[in-house]
Amino acid sequence: MRTLPKSAKIFLFVLILTSINLIAQEKKFGIVIHGGAGRIVKENMSAEREAEYSNKLKEVLETGYKILAEGGSALDAVEAVIKLMEDSPLFNAGKGAVLTEKGVAELDASIMDGKTLSAGAVAGIKHVKSPITLARLVMEKSPHVMMISAGAEEFAKQNGLEMVDNEYFITKERWESYQRALQREEERKKTEKHGTVGAVALDKEGNIAAGTSTGGMMMKKFGRVGDAPIIGAGTYANNKTCGVSATGSGEYFIRIGVAKDISSLIEYKGMSLKNASEEVIKKVGDLGGNGGVICLDKFGNVAMPFNTEGMYRGYYINGEKPVIKMYKDE
Ligand code: ASP
Repeated sequence: MRTLPKSAKIFLFVLILTSINLIAQEKKFGIVIHGGAGRIVKENMSAEREAEYSNKLKEVLETGYKILAEGGSALDAVEAVIKLMEDSPLFNAGKGAVLTEKGVAELDASIMDGKTLSAGAVAGIKHVKSPITLARLVMEKSPHVMMISAGAEEFAKQNGLEMVDNEYFITKERWESYQRALQREEERKKTEKHGTVGAVALDKEGNIAAGTSTGGMMMKKFGRVGDAPIIGAGTYANNKTCGVSATGSGEYFIRIGVAKDISSLIEYKGMSLKNASEEVIKKVGDLGGNGGVICLDKFGNVAMPFNTEGMYRGYYINGEKPVIKMYKDE
C-alpha cells in the first residue's frame, strides 16, 4: 500500500466507499393499496369511523409489507391484502359489497403477475368468499384468463374454495343504502362511494403484481361487469413498467383501458409513473368518469392520482414510513 502512488490510493478509497454504499442500499420493495374512491370527506366522517378505516388500512399495509420483507412474492402479498379487505365490511368487496338492482351481491376480481404477464379474473360471483383467491386460481390452475358466474363457482368448488350464502356479503349498512337507493336515486348519488379494493406490490426479486376486487356499483344491472376484472382496465402489471389497480366509474375505465394505458405511456413514451397516471386519470375525467388509481413502478415509485373528493389509500416502501391517506388535499 505504501508503495502505491497517491492517486491510486484515492481511487481505491473511493471504490471501497462506493461498494459499501451499494451493499447498504437495499433494493426497493413495497406495497400500495386502495380501498376505493368517492365522496370521502372529513365533514361526513366521525372520528370513530375515521379511526376504523385508518386502523384497517394500517393493518393491511403491515400485513403486505411483512410478506415482502420476509422474501414472499408480490403475488402472495397482493392476494393476502386484498383478502383482508374483502373480509372487512368497511369496503365494497367481499363482505360489505354493494348490491345490484335486485338486492344481490355480485362480485368481480382480477390479479396479474408482471413477471409472466399471466392473469386471472372472475365476474358475477355470488357464493365464493374470496373472489381474489378464485381469480388467482383461474390464473394458476386453468388455461383461461377469465371465468364468470356459475362456471367460475363450479371451478371454485372443485378446487376446495370456501363457499358462502349470498347473505354473507350483505351488511346492514349496505342493505339500508340499497333500500334508500331504491327510493331515491338522488340519495344514492350523494352517498356514492366506490369502496373497491386493490393492491400493487413489488417484491425483492423485482417482480410486480397487481389485483383488484369489488362488488361493483350500487344498483348496477343484474349481470353488469365493471372494470375491476378486466385486465388492462382495472388491473395491470408488467415488470418492465409498473403495476396498477383502479377504482371508480368502471364503464369509463374500460373505455379508456386505464391500467394498460398507464403502463404503455411508460413503456412507449418513457413517461414517469406520476405523469403517466395523472394523464390517464385526466382522460377519465374529460370523458365524464370519476375515480382513481394506485400505481407502483419497478423502481419503487408510487403514484395515487384520483379526481374524486377522496380515496382510501396507502403505501409502505422499504426505507420509508408507512403512509395512509383518505381525503383530497392531504
Ligand atoms: N370500478 C368498480 C366498478 O365499476 C367500482 C368501484 O371502483 O367502486 O365495478
